[in-house]
Amino acid sequence: MNSSISNIRAKIQKGETSCVALTKAFLKKIEEHKNLNAFLEVFTDEALENAATIDERIANKKAGKLAGLVIALKDNICYKGHKISASSKILEGFESLYSATVVERLIAEDAIIIGRLNCDEFAMGSSNENSAYGEVLNPIDNSKVPGGSSGGAAAAVKAGLCHAALGTDTGGSVRQPASHCGVIGLKPTYGRVSRYGAIAYASSFDQIGPITNNIPDLALIMEVISGSDHYDSTCSTKEVPAFTKELQLTGVKKIGYIKDCLENPGLDKEIKARLELIIKELKLQGHEVVPVDFPYLDFLVPAYYVLTTAEASSNLARYDGVHFGYRSEQSENWESVYFKSRSEGFGKEVQRRIMLGTYVLSAGYFDAYYAKAQKVRRIFRDKTDEILKTHDFILLPTTPNTAPDIGENTKDPIAMYLEDIFTVQAPLTGLPAISIPIGEHSNGMPFGIQLMGSRFSETALFAFSNEMMQNFNDN
Ligand code: GLN
Repeated sequence: MNSSISNIRAKIQKGETSCVALTKAFLKKIEEHKNLNAFLEVFTDEALENAATIDERIANKKAGKLAGLVIALKDNICYKGHKISASSKILEGFESLYSATVVERLIAEDAIIIGRLNCDEFAMGSSNENSAYGEVLNPIDNSKVPGGSSGGAAAAVKAGLCHAALGTDTGGSVRQPASHCGVIGLKPTYGRVSRYGAIAYASSFDQIGPITNNIPDLALIMEVISGSDHYDSTCSTKEVPAFTKELQLTGVKKIGYIKDCLENPGLDKEIKARLELIIKELKLQGHEVVPVDFPYLDFLVPAYYVLTTAEASSNLARYDGVHFGYRSEQSENWESVYFKSRSEGFGKEVQRRIMLGTYVLSAGYFDAYYAKAQKVRRIFRDKTDEILKTHDFILLPTTPNTAPDIGENTKDPIAMYLEDIFTVQAPLTGLPAISIPIGEHSNGMPFGIQLMGSRFSETALFAFSNEMMQNFNDN
């Protein structure tokens, strides 16, 4: 089930398999792996019906680019007529009134959507332990977390419950679980993919991104979901390159690695050693790999949490017990509808972030926190852009450790936040970044290596990742 969609399509064409057969196989596996708690809902009948229709279209040579692809959606991406909860009690029973642009585009190209995936509540978390619907288990070792917030997505792709998944990445939520589960995860350039229909967490950071087993599938999905959308004014009108046609690497690259990342005391020794080895081998292959200075590493996580909580406190104001989903049964008047519905409907972490965000935006503290963090964000962006003017990519770890044990970080929010140290730079600066699974720890767990590129450099990023996957994947 790891072969690329183009291989699968060839098999369908030869009559060796069919969309219905593939969908049935995935449904069986989902049932067998129920203990992972990766899916919140499986669209069994509908997926089978769609598969049959798409088989007909393939037979009539009328099928779209994604015919044969079975994909699942993180539970914060709207699909018309289907439930959506952002893994929160506050959206209990709520149904999407429209589909996200990415979903429309997947369907237009004949992808089969098989279900919705568990995640951290409102995409806030790094371990999937903040879901109102229970934690997700890492398919490689069930005592570990899958990462978060798109934990269900990474676990499902790794366990072979679907070909691919769409997640959202605000501070690492696609790349970090991809790293912990041993699959590929991409955060596109801000504005590459429409956010219309993705439940907002921090709008100036959020991007929808794919999780896959191989780069050709990732490139193909990106070709379909990227591009301008008049429903999202932050979505770029830049033309979408034919990513799948440009997967062959051309020429020698100049790659920078941030010294402070490698020297970070929190970085696991084996991950560090693996990165050093990769640097050495890339040099042997003729690439120029050099250390670069980025003196702000310790400020990334604090700035990220000031800004994202501020945006979240505003975005989540709409869940008031009136417009969406859950309403407290205990409410006696309009004020207590808001108060009690929000207190009972939101989980602890979401409440903590709403309070933090409200605080940093409050009149007395706005300048000291929010305005300051905005200025700092600009400094990060300018410095990172400057590095990428003279380097093709920045190479860095995805995560400081392999997947933690379930429950390891839940008592200590700061420890949990520090998990994001290497993934927040890309969303803070709007740059694209990919995590590729080319590390295996002696503890048996996989880990990813991250590449960050300049704005809209996805074509080069995919080609280089493709080459690295071929050269460095010992699995
Ligand atoms: N772990 C980060 C957070 O909790 C990232 C979340 C995300 O990217 N959605 O905010």
